[in-house]
Amino acid sequence: MLIVQKFGGSSVADAEKIRRVAGIIADTYEEGNDVVVVLSAQGDTTDDLLEKAAELNERPSKRELDMLLSTGEQQSIALMAMCLEKMRYPVVSLTGWQVGMETTSDHGAARIMRMKTERIMRELDKRRIVIVAGFQGITKGNDVTTLGRGGSDTTAVAIAAALHADKCQIFTDVEGVYTADPRKVPDAKKLDEITYDEMLELASLGAQVLHNRSVELAKRYGIVLEVLSSYVRKPGTKVKEVAKKVEENKISGIAKDVDVARVAVVGVPDAPGVAFRVFNEMARKKINVDVILQSYGKNNTNDISFTVPLGDADAAERALNDAREAIGFDHVSIDKGIAKVSIIGAGMMSASGVAALMFEALSDAEINIHMISTSEIKVSVLIDEEMADLAVKAIHSKFFG
Ligand code: ADP
Ligand code: ASP
Ligand code: MG
Repeated sequence: MLIVQKFGGSSVADAEKIRRVAGIIADTYEEGNDVVVVLSAQGDTTDDLLEKAAELNERPSKRELDMLLSTGEQQSIALMAMCLEKMRYPVVSLTGWQVGMETTSDHGAARIMRMKTERIMRELDKRRIVIVAGFQGITKGNDVTTLGRGGSDTTAVAIAAALHADKCQIFTDVEGVYTADPRKVPDAKKLDEITYDEMLELASLGAQVLHNRSVELAKRYGIVLEVLSSYVRKPGTKVKEVAKKVEENKISGIAKDVDVARVAVVGVPDAPGVAFRVFNEMARKKINVDVILQSYGKNNTNDISFTVPLGDADAAERALNDAREAIGFDHVSIDKGIAKVSIIGAGMMSASGVAALMFEALSDAEINIHMISTSEIKVSVLIDEEMADLAVKAIHSKFFG
């Protein structure tokens, strides 16, 4: 079998952990498999590199930032290869550019376009264990890119797809995908299986256990992912097209995202084309907009509120203020102290009262809701950030307690 195994930053944080992971890789190889390993940077390396950059330039170019951030993964692959060498295994480490991981040129959020498989196949033919740097790629013009925070998961799935791997295992510091973040909700339950669609929502709505684009890719290429622990050897959670439900739960999970800001455009004229002009400004700046609410304001005007990623809040404010005269609104206000809490479940639409149950939990906990948005498989609310953990716990015990 050809097996792709990805290990996250906490799993390779120090020498002892690298040795433990090397043991898992070696066992997989000893079973006669071809093994391709994808690694993240060790521990907090990526955050530390970001801090170092900020000491010298608070707004460095994204190109140079990618040049710096990609070094974290290069360290961990070399260290892992050295560890396996010492254990007398044939091994080679390769960077994103050495394996021809071609991406778009959106530095910091690059998308994988294609991948060359020759180098990896040649190494596997020599019966070597191949260790690839996650999170990084290269543009057509030979510039180094990164895929966005948490992007190593996506590297692993892209490699599994390109090589038609038999298995793609994502090893991390928890035992699988849970009904809520197990570090925040101690009685969260581990799921044996979850569908791509539900996992995609969970990941997009804040559960960082998988990078959302990795789930997108896995769905597109029909790759079954397994999320499992690098500390305890037992089955984790399978992410696949159709999932068995162990219990009859109305939802699969709860996610929290504090990486959001609310933008309120106050006093927009009540006229056709205004919403278009507001959101066109966001589109031109490539700012993703989520939960949108339009309400009546004063004197025949409307207020339009929406959420953007926290990191884009200042840019959104600048863009709107630049267009204030043209659009004709009164002012913009930004609230960075909010969180989005969501429930996700494929069976939600057919089960009545799911949203009501969520709102009841929030009401019991006396948590005020600012905005609500729903889709076929999720309900999200915007609340004050300091209430977010309490909200997740309250909702969790309502549905699973
Ligand atoms: P890695 O370094 O292995 O990529 P991450 O920190 O990116 O690990 O993701 C694992 C973390 O995701 C866990 O430690 C856990 O706190 C968090 N997490 C959030 N929501 C969930 C969830 N529903 N199930 C499992 N883990 C979750
Ligand atoms: N090292 C990168 C990050 O911290 C990528 C990853 O861990 O997947 O975001
Ligand atoms: Mg991760």
